[in-house]
Amino acid sequence: MSAKEADLLLRGARLLTLAPSGEERPRVGAAAGDVGAIDDGWVAAREGQVVATGRGGTWERVRLVDGATTEDVGGRVVMPGFVDPHTHLCYAGQRWDEFEARRSGSDYLAILERGGGIHATVRATREASDARLLALMRARLDRAVAAGTTTIEIKSGYGLEPEEELRHLRIIAALRSEAIVDVAPTYLAAHALPGRANGDRRAFLRSAQAVLTRVAEEHLAEAVDAFVEKGVFETEEVAPLMHEAAALGLARAVHADQLNDVGGAGFAARVEARSADHVSRASADGLRALERGGTVAVLLPGSALFVGYPPPDGRRFVAHRVPVALGTDHNPGTSPLEGVPTAIALAVTMCGLTPHEAIVAATANAAHALGRGTRTGALVEGRRADVVVLETDDERELAYRLGARLVRTVYASGQRVAEHETVR
Ligand SMILES: [Zn+2]
Repeated sequence: MSAKEADLLLRGARLLTLAPSGEERPRVGAAAGDVGAIDDGWVAAREGQVVATGRGGTWERVRLVDGATTEDVGGRVVMPGFVDPHTHLCYAGQRWDEFEARRSGSDYLAILERGGGIHATVRATREASDARLLALMRARLDRAVAAGTTTIEIKSGYGLEPEEELRHLRIIAALRSEAIVDVAPTYLAAHALPGRANGDRRAFLRSAQAVLTRVAEEHLAEAVDAFVEKGVFETEEVAPLMHEAAALGLARAVHADQLNDVGGAGFAARVEARSADHVSRASADGLRALERGGTVAVLLPGSALFVGYPPPDGRRFVAHRVPVALGTDHNPGTSPLEGVPTAIALAVTMCGLTPHEAIVAATANAAHALGRGTRTGALVEGRRADVVVLETDDERELAYRLGARLVRTVYASGQRVAEHETVR
C-alpha cells in the first residue's frame, strides 16, 4: 500500500467493511450475509472519504495530517453508517389517541369515517407552518442520526393535494440543504385519495402527474412513489404516473403488496422501480420478477409489528436471490419506530433474516435502494466516510439486545455528528 494521508483514523476495531467481492451490486445469495469483517482492523478517511482500510499494525503507514482525529477503539465494532431507505418524516400531529382507540378494539375504518387515521395527519400537517414542519423534521432527523443513520430517504405524502405536496417537498429540500447527513427526497404522489377528489382516482392521479415536471425541474425529489393496495390505488392506474416519472429522469419506488397480493412486486419490476417496499404478501411470481429486475425489496417490519399484519418472510427473498434492504418506515400512523437498530432487531426476530443479512440490508443494500450503492453503505476507498462505532465487539448484539443503545459514535462524511456516553 502506498502511503495515504488521513484526517480520521479508527484502529483496533472489529471492522465491518461491507466490501463487495467484485463489482458493486445489490447483495444476494452468499453475499446477502457477507459483512466483510476484519478483526483488528482499521479505517482511514480524508476530507470526508474513505482512503484505506487494513488489518493489524499496517495503519502505521498512514500519514496523519495536522489536527487529525485518531482513536484506538479497543476492539469495538466499526461499520458503515445506516441507510434508512423508507421514511415518512414530513408530518405534524400525533396519532396516539387513535392508537389507544385501536388497542381498545375500535375499527380502523370507523376511525377513518370519523375523520381520524391518515386524514388526521393530513389535517395537522396542512395546518402546520413551513417553520413548524421544518422544526419537527429537524428533531426527527437528529434522533435518527443519533441512532446511527447517515443516509435517509424522506417522503412527502401527507399533503395529498399536489400543491400541498409541493410545499412539503420544498420544506424537505430546506432540511436537505442544512442537514449534516445525506437526505434523499421522494414524492409520494399517490398515498390516499383526498376527500375533494370525490372518489375519482384517475382525475386525482392526472393532477399528481401534472406537477411532476415542476418536481423534476426544481429538483424537489429523486423518486416518485405510489401506494398500490386493494381499495387504494391499482397498478394500471398509477402506471402512467410511473412512466411519466421515468421520462423525466425520476426514479420509481412502489408501496407494494403490503396487506394483499395485488401484483405490486411484479409491477415495481415492470416500471423498473429501484425498490418495492413492504412486500409482505408478494407472490412467488412477484419475487421472480424482482430477482430478474434486480429490484431491491425493502422490508419494513415496524409497520407489521405495529399494525399486526404478518411480516414479510425474509427467507423467501433470500432464497429467491432478491436483494433485501431494511427501513424504519417511520410514520405517525403505522410505524412510529425510530432508529435503524430497532428495525434490524425486528428484521431478525420477525422476518427471519440472520443478523449479518440484516446488517447488509441496512447498509449496502439500502444504499442501492436509494441509488447510492457506490457512494455509501460500505467502508471501501472512495466511499463517503459514513461510519458508526458500536459499544460492543460483536455486531450480532444489534439484533439480539432489543432496545439496547449500542451506537456510540457516528461520523457522516468524516465529521463526528453524534457521540454517546454508553455503558459497556
Ligand atoms: Zn411507507
